[in-house]
Amino acid sequence: MKRKFILFGATGSIGDSTLDILRQHGDDFELVGFTWHNNSDKARAIQAEFKVDHAFSTVAADSAERTARLLDLPHDFIIMAIVGAAGVTTTLEAAKRGETILLANKESLVIAGEIVMAAAKQHGATILPVDSEHSSLFRLLAAQRTLSETDTLYLTASGGPLLHVHGEAFYNASKALVLKHPTWVMGQKITVDSAGLTNKALEIIEAHYLFNMPYENIQAVIHPQSYVHAMVGHADGTVMQHVSFPDMKYPIAYAMYYPEVPKATVAMKPPQTYPAFEFFPVDENKFKSYTLGRKAGMLGSFYPAIYNAANEAAVAAFLGDNIRFGEISELIERAMAATYAEFDATTIAGLTAYDQAARQTVQKQVMSV
Ligand code: NAD
Ligand code: MG
Repeated sequence: MKRKFILFGATGSIGDSTLDILRQHGDDFELVGFTWHNNSDKARAIQAEFKVDHAFSTVAADSAERTARLLDLPHDFIIMAIVGAAGVTTTLEAAKRGETILLANKESLVIAGEIVMAAAKQHGATILPVDSEHSSLFRLLAAQRTLSETDTLYLTASGGPLLHVHGEAFYNASKALVLKHPTWVMGQKITVDSAGLTNKALEIIEAHYLFNMPYENIQAVIHPQSYVHAMVGHADGTVMQHVSFPDMKYPIAYAMYYPEVPKATVAMKPPQTYPAFEFFPVDENKFKSYTLGRKAGMLGSFYPAIYNAANEAAVAAFLGDNIRFGEISELIERAMAATYAEFDATTIAGLTAYDQAARQTVQKQVMSV
């Protein structure tokens, strides 16, 4: 029997990889519905190719009702591949419906990790990681008996295109350079996030909620080759690594086939063809937005939502040629230090209010420069 699924954010980079898997394994899966935001030509092509009856653009004013109707269709799992804070309400709605959620949208957990995980637990939803590092951790943890409090989870980071660019050149890095990721092909927002290691901070918060581990036990390591996606360090001094050529089809297919063994999507590259692996510590003084993100995670409450929103607004300003690359972390820092009216950080409405306030704080400063 084909496993039916709904794809939120079908026209993006994760959408592309998912549809490639569907092309390869159309006997195993069926796309019953999808959303996109503003790439209608591509959406129509997807609809025609995969003969999908239910698809809509989330630009529509009644997008929440349409999302609910989409989720009413018979299906086995959803893939949440929307970028940014826009994904959080659908992730939460799916968690409340007890869905199996293949989660690429890390921002859902960054903004509302406690609320989403509590809803998932209460309603019996399953969240399967799609982010490559978390998928690798998920596989590594399945290979050991339990996750112990003395274990350390390591997320690797390629270091992005600015790993060897320092000082003024880092601060003033051009859009063309920032968008030229050395190992991964991804959407623009996550590519900018990767250049400043903001992405790694978002992923540390994501891992904190997915694996229920304290921040002290979650570390990032620079690994420019992006073959080792994650590691688990044990109290006995040994470290397990999970390795593959960097291609998102591996983690997506793993989640799509879960708990079955995934079928091949990208052929295995034999280890003797691998480049030499390097590992370095993260330079926390240089990658300021990484350091701020870790801090936001540890502070908890509304701080991750403010960090995420300020970053989204600052990245949009950078992509719109309104600020320099180094200003992204400065804007995030100021948004985290600003004073806000008090909202209830235990609700989505409250967190959304913090999100909006942080965006306004950033936008005001972008306009005044
Ligand atoms: P992308 O920009 O390529 O695609 C995003 C998708 O979301 C598109 O379909 C777009 O139409 C839709 N979208 C954009 N704005 C929206 C809005 N306001 N409301 C609803 N839909 C909207 O992004 P991507 O690189 O595919 O990343 C998607 C998510 O997956 C992000 O959260 C990212 O962090 C995560 N992720 C991506 C990769 C990757 O390799 N691309 C790897 C790991 C995690
Ligand atoms: Mg990742």
